[in-house]
Amino acid sequence: MPVLLGSGAIIAIVALVDWWTNADVLVGFLYLFPIMFIAAFSPRWVVILLAAGCAALAEGFSSLAPSFVRLSFETLALAGCGLFSAELIRNRRSTLQTEARLRALAETSPAAIVTVDERGFIPVDSQLRTSRPWAWAAGDVIGGPLFTHVASLMGQLAGRNALHGAAETIDLRVLPRVTFTDPEVASVGVTQEQAVKDGRDVRIGFASLVDAEKAQIDGQKHGHVKVVADAASGELLGCHVVAETAGDMIHEAVAMMAGRVPVQAVAATMHAYPTLSELMRSALAEAAEA
Ligand SMILES: Cc1cc2nc3c(=O)[nH]c(=O)nc-3n(C[C@H](O)[C@H](O)[C@H](O)COP(=O)(O)OP(=O)(O)OC[C@H]3O[C@@H](n4cnc5c(N)ncnc54)[C@H](O)[C@@H]3O)c2cc1C
Repeated sequence: MPVLLGSGAIIAIVALVDWWTNADVLVGFLYLFPIMFIAAFSPRWVVILLAAGCAALAEGFSSLAPSFVRLSFETLALAGCGLFSAELIRNRRSTLQTEARLRALAETSPAAIVTVDERGFIPVDSQLRTSRPWAWAAGDVIGGPLFTHVASLMGQLAGRNALHGAAETIDLRVLPRVTFTDPEVASVGVTQEQAVKDGRDVRIGFASLVDAEKAQIDGQKHGHVKVVADAASGELLGCHVVAETAGDMIHEAVAMMAGRVPVQAVAATMHAYPTLSELMRSALAEAAEA
């Protein structure tokens, strides 16, 4: 209310000055400012009413002959300017509020905001939502597999769920793991032991690095590819590679697992010579024949 009264007083003063000085266009332009000021703090209907009142007042005090057309244009212009400025200021205010909240979140211990477990990790559901319905968590803080590619995937998913109202769930079935030793060790899916423990009937394929001419050319002596496939369907359940470029080679198995491609399908494809990827085809072929 004080804002409205104050702004009304400003409008009246400007209108009086306008009438007194007969400056019309120059001083009359000042009506915009109180309207824009009010717009920042008021609902839209108040802005439009005040804009219309302001224009009518201007017209009433003006030395120019009253004109319906001019009054309409003035009204529309002022209301439009007011609404535009309201939108700008509201957006700015909401940005500032969001920044302040984010800063407060960053400076506060997560434990003060969301539930954390005894190890300090933040429990989340399959959509990465925390104990607070408005807060999502992703990456190392949730205590899942601690990898950059996992954090990245989770961050994108949590962002879509939080900002776009999506209900996507995280799927870590196909998770590549690489240890950057020399040679590298890369895995995806389950090991033979895990699959058997889960009660699955499996076929195994194995290829030794020394059998690849590319390894001989490069002077690599140690390494292998081992694949674990479901005996009935041929679906690849796991793959384990030890080689200088195991971190790159594993992604053929990643793609196969993502698409649930049977080992027979890829075992029958050509792999370029001389490459270490030939070992992958050999191991898949052995699993397909077993
Ligand atoms: C030595 C080492 C080697 C690794 N090598 C690999 C690898 O080869 N491949 C792989 O996939 N993963 C690797 N990881 C794991 C990988 O780094 C993490 O899984 C990944 O960085 C997790 O990403 P994140 O965004 O969840 O957390 P982080 O990358 O840790 O990012 C969290 C950020 O939040 C900031 N922060 C923390 N508290 C606050 C606060 N209160 N206010 C403001 N900012 C804050 C931190 O400074 C940090 O920048 C490695 C980790 C380590 C330690």
